[in-house]
Amino acid sequence: MKALKDYEFWFIVGSQDLYGEETLRQAAANARIMAEDLAADPLLPGKLVLKPVAITPALIRRLFAEANAAEDCAGIITWMHTFSPSKMWIQGLAANKKPLLHLHTQFNRDIPWASIDMDFMNLNQSAHGDREHGHIFARMRLPRTVVAGYWKDPAVRRRTGVWMRAACARMDGIVSPVMRLGDNMREVAVTEGDKVAAQIKFGWQINTWGIGDLAAGYNAVSVAAAENLAREYAGRYEFAAGLAASGAGRTAVLEQARIELALTEMLRAENAGAFTTTFQDLHGLPQLPGLAVQRLMEQGYGFGAEGDWKQAMLLRAAKVMAAGLPGGVSFMEDYTYHFEPGKEAALGAHMLEVCPSIAAGKPRVEVHPLGIGGKADPARLVFDGAPGPAVLATLISLGDRFRMIVNEVEGIAIENAMPRLPVARALWRPKPSLAGAAEAWILAGGTHHAVYAPALSAEYFRDWAEIMDIECVLIDGNTESGRFADELRRNEAYWSSGRR
Ligand code: MN
Repeated sequence: MKALKDYEFWFIVGSQDLYGEETLRQAAANARIMAEDLAADPLLPGKLVLKPVAITPALIRRLFAEANAAEDCAGIITWMHTFSPSKMWIQGLAANKKPLLHLHTQFNRDIPWASIDMDFMNLNQSAHGDREHGHIFARMRLPRTVVAGYWKDPAVRRRTGVWMRAACARMDGIVSPVMRLGDNMREVAVTEGDKVAAQIKFGWQINTWGIGDLAAGYNAVSVAAAENLAREYAGRYEFAAGLAASGAGRTAVLEQARIELALTEMLRAENAGAFTTTFQDLHGLPQLPGLAVQRLMEQGYGFGAEGDWKQAMLLRAAKVMAAGLPGGVSFMEDYTYHFEPGKEAALGAHMLEVCPSIAAGKPRVEVHPLGIGGKADPARLVFDGAPGPAVLATLISLGDRFRMIVNEVEGIAIENAMPRLPVARALWRPKPSLAGAAEAWILAGGTHHAVYAPALSAEYFRDWAEIMDIECVLIDGNTESGRFADELRRNEAYWSSGRR
């Protein structure tokens, strides 16, 4: 995964030549001070690159054309230091292919009461200029994020950083294909979708590789290499009794190590950022990839079970957005509910594949039978998810378009031992309530598969959806399912109107 600092964000400051050379010189100098200060702040994970002050249609056209051609440019931040008539921006914005953030700020924090004159007013005119600028985005129906406030305020910088992370995830998705090992699970609707539409919309490359290729790679991994990786496992995780000595359990651990090594080689060869598996297509493998999948998620790969390439790529996007942040992100499945009054909660897990980045404690390697797939007993990491705020996000295909659904949840500590449940799991209480969230999620057509993200908040996914220009519905503490159903109906009209 490319470091977020290697993605450029072009900072284009708008003005015009009406106020003379001195005003333009001052605008350029102020922009440089801002850009240098912002670039040095770790709250902004990308690399901020200042561009010349934009004052003519030709210059603006050229800046956007250069941005489109720049592979490292992940997004554009605009800010109007003075008034900057927006018809000058139309050609550039019409050609633009990069995510847009309109930063509405002002160089000075305070009004200099004693010295303020009309020169000062004309130079520091963002309140005016950014309204003209915002109008043309609205007039052109352009997807964009608006962040308003004083540029030194950490809240403004944090908000800008969130958008930068979403924009980095978009770029990563274009260059990091998803490797599908096997097709979608037979007869399942929600993991399906239009791969061509997804490539047009998100830039994702969604192609298939034969499970036989993985089986051949698996067979080619040496015992020494597998033992070497198993030693790394021993350093990072607890081992259940019997897995350190030779025997059936140890063999199951080594089989996962061999799958991990073979899969890593295949993913690297294709520069893939995500992958899917399916338990219905495991020819040549001894068992379903379990521990191997968990390890690869921990290293930053997206993953979707049962061929779910949409969640695999959404998880990859979440991995990029969460780079360097505490908390982790994982593939997740809504499994079963606890309806005890006052303690309502959802228990999420999967057959095997939950990412240890969300673990509360040290994950434990265990080997157990798997009731599905008809293969040998797979090794897996078992742990509880850490308590704390998190979001669930999923992406569905509605045939003619995509919809993102985001639910704010509170991860809760699991107080009861579950000695007979041999998988990693997380327990959470959704907002507004278990029943309220489930009603809304189901009304929206949400999957049982999702990205569970303690490292992120809803705003990351909303920014990502805005950049991708897709519908995003939020289920939070204010959601009421009747009004939510109305929102979905109104959205249907909007997203089917062809205006965007
Ligand atoms: Mn599943």
